[in-house]
Amino acid sequence: MLTDEYVKKVYAQVEKRDGDQPEFLQAVREVFESLQPVVEKHPEYEANGVLERLVEPERVVKFRVAWVDDSGKVQVNRGYRVQFNSAIGPYKGGLRFHPTVNEGVIKFLGFEQILKNSLTTLPMGGGKGGSDFDPKGKSDAEVMRFCQAFMTELSRHIGQFTDVPAGDINVGAREIGYLFGQYKRIRDEYSGVLTGKGLEFGGSLARTEATGYGLCYYTAEALRVLRNDSFEGKTVVISGSGNVAIFATEKAQALGAKVVTASDSNGYVYDPNGIQLDVVKDIKLGHRGRIKEYAERVPGAEYHEGCKGVWTVPCDIALPCATQNEIDGESAEALVKNGCKVVCEGANMPSTPEAIEVYQKNGLLYGPAKAANAGGVAVSGLEMSQNSYRLSWTFEETDAKLKSIMESIVANSLAAAKEYGEEGDLMAGANIAGFVKVADAMVAQGVL
Ligand code: GLU
Repeated sequence: MLTDEYVKKVYAQVEKRDGDQPEFLQAVREVFESLQPVVEKHPEYEANGVLERLVEPERVVKFRVAWVDDSGKVQVNRGYRVQFNSAIGPYKGGLRFHPTVNEGVIKFLGFEQILKNSLTTLPMGGGKGGSDFDPKGKSDAEVMRFCQAFMTELSRHIGQFTDVPAGDINVGAREIGYLFGQYKRIRDEYSGVLTGKGLEFGGSLARTEATGYGLCYYTAEALRVLRNDSFEGKTVVISGSGNVAIFATEKAQALGAKVVTASDSNGYVYDPNGIQLDVVKDIKLGHRGRIKEYAERVPGAEYHEGCKGVWTVPCDIALPCATQNEIDGESAEALVKNGCKVVCEGANMPSTPEAIEVYQKNGLLYGPAKAANAGGVAVSGLEMSQNSYRLSWTFEETDAKLKSIMESIVANSLAAAKEYGEEGDLMAGANIAGFVKVADAMVAQGVL
């Protein structure tokens, strides 16, 4: 509930201006609910218009991306880059290529990114971008031409000291390679302008694994501190089968858990014997196939159409790693009913407000996305450092840094929650800890 007058006033303004952007409103509202005790204790935030400025992107770039498909036909997509907040560092955040992308979706992601990047302890501002381009069914050559057209415009707005994009849904190693190549060609400059690059051209070891591994490091640490427990012997439900889900499965298994599901936008597979990750990797990373194929290849595994059913599979821990709002109130009830005690988010904003209410009412350990999935952008920050030094660290060194960052996110979130009377609340803690650093920097730098 919004009760603080200042917070209410700013939220009403956002509703009025951006009422047609439901995902953005949802992200802002959740953060604002957590920030009420903070702005009450710190009148300087209101005096400096911090919330009003926080919800208004510094810059929104929206552009045409025209390209020619394999049959010679002209295609036109829409491109976006939202440069949301640069108080603590250059804009940083991924690019998403998906038919559902619009300005509101990119704004919600960019807004989340401000606080997420702040939580990593590294100097990165918040940004996000992408396009409504759908790479499904497109040839490599079409993806390349699209990426080149997209970067031709984007290149005017980014740079290693200005804005450093990376991947998100449907933007992985292949797309980053094409985007990097085009930037280099246009600018005649070899710099760390993108992260998630190939290892041959400035990428960081452990960046591919970082979001999924980081999610498990975060979950393991929260379990240890708040429940004196671990992944050992637990049954885990994971949604998705992309980069985040694959490496979350890998690390959860390494930590002694049994992962029993994987999904994509068509349906999910349930494997009571535990997911065979080499098969998922072969399907998804090997030939960009559908998850249905898993059940055709692995005896004992079942395939079910539709992705919501994955939340009815009994488990101890759920790690949503697919997309926004994939768990609604009803799915959250099903999780609780079937024994789930922990939900930590690998995707961005995968739980609706109703789902979060169900977690809270039932005392689940809930690790919100902006904290739990910060490992990806954290290693992106480490990639930027390595590019600046012009050297590369070993896998072990980078992975150890990632683990310690995820552990400090748990500690800093819990400390912030305690300071503002929300002891043990990882969501309030993440919102508060992420915000305070950005807000103090905004106050120090004057009205911009
Ligand atoms: N797209 C990822 C995220 O949601 C990573 C962003 C990055 O590495 O810049 O945090």
